[in-house]
Amino acid sequence: MDFSITPEQEQLYASMKRLAAEVIAPGAADRDKEGRWDPDVWKRLAEAGVAGMPIPEELGGSGGSIIDCCLVNEALAEGGRDGGFGLSLGAHWVIGSVPIWLHGSKELQERWLPGLCDGTYIGAWASTEPESGSDSASFKTTAVRDGDEFVLNGTKIFITNGPIADVCTVLARTDKGPTAFVVDTRTEGFVVGRELDKMGCRSSPTAEIHLQDCRVPAANILSVEGEALWRVAFECFDWERTVMMAATIGGMRATIDGAIRYAKEREQFGKPIAHFQAIAHKIAQMEINYHACRNAVYKAAWLKENGKEHMLEASIAKAMTGTLVTENALEAIQIHGGYGYLRDFPAERGLRDAKLTSIGGGTTEIQKMIISRLLLQ
Ligand SMILES: Cc1cc2nc3c(=O)[nH]c(=O)nc-3n(C[C@H](O)[C@H](O)[C@H](O)COP(=O)(O)OP(=O)(O)OC[C@H]3O[C@@H](n4cnc5c(N)ncnc54)[C@H](O)[C@@H]3O)c2cc1C
Repeated sequence: MDFSITPEQEQLYASMKRLAAEVIAPGAADRDKEGRWDPDVWKRLAEAGVAGMPIPEELGGSGGSIIDCCLVNEALAEGGRDGGFGLSLGAHWVIGSVPIWLHGSKELQERWLPGLCDGTYIGAWASTEPESGSDSASFKTTAVRDGDEFVLNGTKIFITNGPIADVCTVLARTDKGPTAFVVDTRTEGFVVGRELDKMGCRSSPTAEIHLQDCRVPAANILSVEGEALWRVAFECFDWERTVMMAATIGGMRATIDGAIRYAKEREQFGKPIAHFQAIAHKIAQMEINYHACRNAVYKAAWLKENGKEHMLEASIAKAMTGTLVTENALEAIQIHGGYGYLRDFPAERGLRDAKLTSIGGGTTEIQKMIISRLLLQ
C-alpha cells in the first residue's frame, strides 16, 4: 500500500499552510467575535488559485484532484484556524461550484465557472428547509412550469454563504420530482432573509433564503428534472464527507499543537504540566483520534478519487471525525485549565467551530443510520 503524497503535494500543503497563517489566522478571532465575513481574505486566497481548486483547468479552475482539494482544505485549516473560512470555502467548492461543473450545461458552466474559479463569484447550495433537515427528500419548495421558465416558491434555512453568494443551486419540487435549479441571486424573488447568529464558524455568513415567485429559466436545471436527489445531491454529500472533512482534520492538528505548546510552557507544582501523566495521556489520546480520523478521511477520499465504492467509508469518516473533533477540542480546553475557558484563547473558539462537524452535511446519527443500513441490508 502506498500512503505517500507526491513532492508537489507536499509543497502545495506547505505553501497553503503558510498562506493561511499569513492571511487567515491574524484576524480570525476578531471575525469570530463580530460574526464577520472578510472579502479581502477571500480575495487573497482566490488570487492564489484556491477558489477554483476542484474545477478542471479548461473550465477556469486549478484542476486539483480530490486528494489535492483535501490537502489544501486541511492546510488552510491548520494554518488559518478559522472554521468559518473553511466552511464558506468548502461550501463554495463542493456544493456551490462542483454541481455546476459536474451537472451543468455548457452554457451554465461558461456563465458561472470562470467567476466561481477566480473568486469574483461565491457559490451556495440551498436544500435544507425549516421542516426538512435530515429528511432531506421531504423539502416543500415548489417549482411550477410556465413556458420556458419555472416559478419557485418556498423557504430555505441554514444556507452557508447565503448573504454573499452570487449563484445558488436551489432544490425545488416540480411535477416530476426533486429538481436542482441554478439561480442567479440577483433574480427578483430570490430574497436573502435574516442572517443566523451561530455558536461557531461565525466568520461564515449563514442565512434563510425566501423564494417568492422567483422565475428561473428551465435551461438552468442541473442534470435531469425530477432526479436531483440521486444524481446531484448525493454527489454533493460525497464531497462533503471527504473534501470538507479535511478542513476538520487540519483544525484538529492545530488544536493538538496548541495544547502541546501550552502543556510545555505552563508550570504548576514546579514543572511543566506536560510532565504530569494525566496531561501527557490526554495529548496522546488526541493524537490517536487525529490519526484515526485523518486516515479515515483520506481513505474515503482516495476511494472516491479512484472511482471505487466509498459510501460506507465516507460515512465512517464523517461520523468518527464529527465525534472525535469535539472530544479533542474539549480536552484542549481542559489542558488550558481556566485559560481555556476564556475567549482570549483559540481553544474556546476551536470547540465552538468543531461542533458543527457532527451536524452539517448529515448528522452523526444519519451517518450511523447509513452505516448500519449497509451492514444490515
Ligand atoms: C452552520 C450550518 C451550515 C449549513 N449549511 C447548509 C447549506 O449550505 N445548505 C443546506 O442546504 N443546508 C445547510 N445546513 C443544514 C444541515 O445540513 C442540517 O442542519 C442538517 O442536515 C440537520 O438537519 P436539521 O438541522 O434540520 O436537524 P434535524 O434533522 O431536525 O435533526 C435533529 C436531531 O435528530 C436527529 N435525527 C433526525 N432524523 C433521525 C433519524 N432518522 N435517526 C436518528 N436520529 C435522527 C439528528 O441527527 C439530530 O440529532 C447547514 C447547517 C448548519 C448548522
